[in-house]
Amino acid sequence: MWLIALGAVIAITAEAFVSWRAGRPAYTLRETELTLALAAGAFALAYMLPPAAQWAPRFLHVTPIAMPKGWQGAALLTILGDFTLYWSHRASHAFRWQWAAHEAHHSSERLNFLASLRQGWTDLPAGIWLYTLPLAVLGFDASQWVAYYGINLGWQMFVHNEWAPRLGPLEWILVTPSHHRVHHARAAGPNAHNFANIFIVWDRLFGTFQAEGEKRVAVFGVENRTFDGVFDAAFGEWRKLLTGLWQRARASA
Ligand SMILES: [Zn+2]
Ligand SMILES: [Zn+2]
Repeated sequence: MWLIALGAVIAITAEAFVSWRAGRPAYTLRETELTLALAAGAFALAYMLPPAAQWAPRFLHVTPIAMPKGWQGAALLTILGDFTLYWSHRASHAFRWQWAAHEAHHSSERLNFLASLRQGWTDLPAGIWLYTLPLAVLGFDASQWVAYYGINLGWQMFVHNEWAPRLGPLEWILVTPSHHRVHHARAAGPNAHNFANIFIVWDRLFGTFQAEGEKRVAVFGVENRTFDGVFDAAFGEWRKLLTGLWQRARASA
């Protein structure tokens, strides 16, 4: 895991330096501050609350179904995990209470490696983990989960950038930076495309795929929304949602 963290720091530094030298810095101070604040909170929460898929068997006393050992099992988990993430991500754009948790990830107006770490803080109350829960009964071991999270995080980081061109035949199978720019397009909102994390085949299969046009997507963020600091990014949509519900309840009382 430390190796992945070191690789991430090197990649982010290289991206910042090269883009700055090219005269179009990928990082601004304001955006970087907000990303780091959101990432710090999300990591602290993840550390305190281990992923549901790992602790669920202990609570549920489920007999794990035997899965292939070693890398074959990790590969299978990566495919199955990506399938569940496709649906949880799609739901995060379709249902408002899940969007309230996911909006933070879309708050960035620049796409860079670091922006992949911009994660919301409320996945737990939003129930986003429910989609991964079925995997808990499949009996993958801890090292396979670590490998899966590592692959997932690494790939997520790679696809968050504004500079990578299309990647030829890889575009058929894998999620690429081009696909993920389409996902983050400011105008997309609830009608977003390309929800998969690693395998774009899910979007192709389930009708949510959209290729990037000749002109690269260059405007990111959330339509009609500016983010006023880390708490607004993490809780702003919840506040609007709950205030709206409260007002409707009062009006009908
Ligand atoms: Zn999204
Ligand atoms: Zn993203």
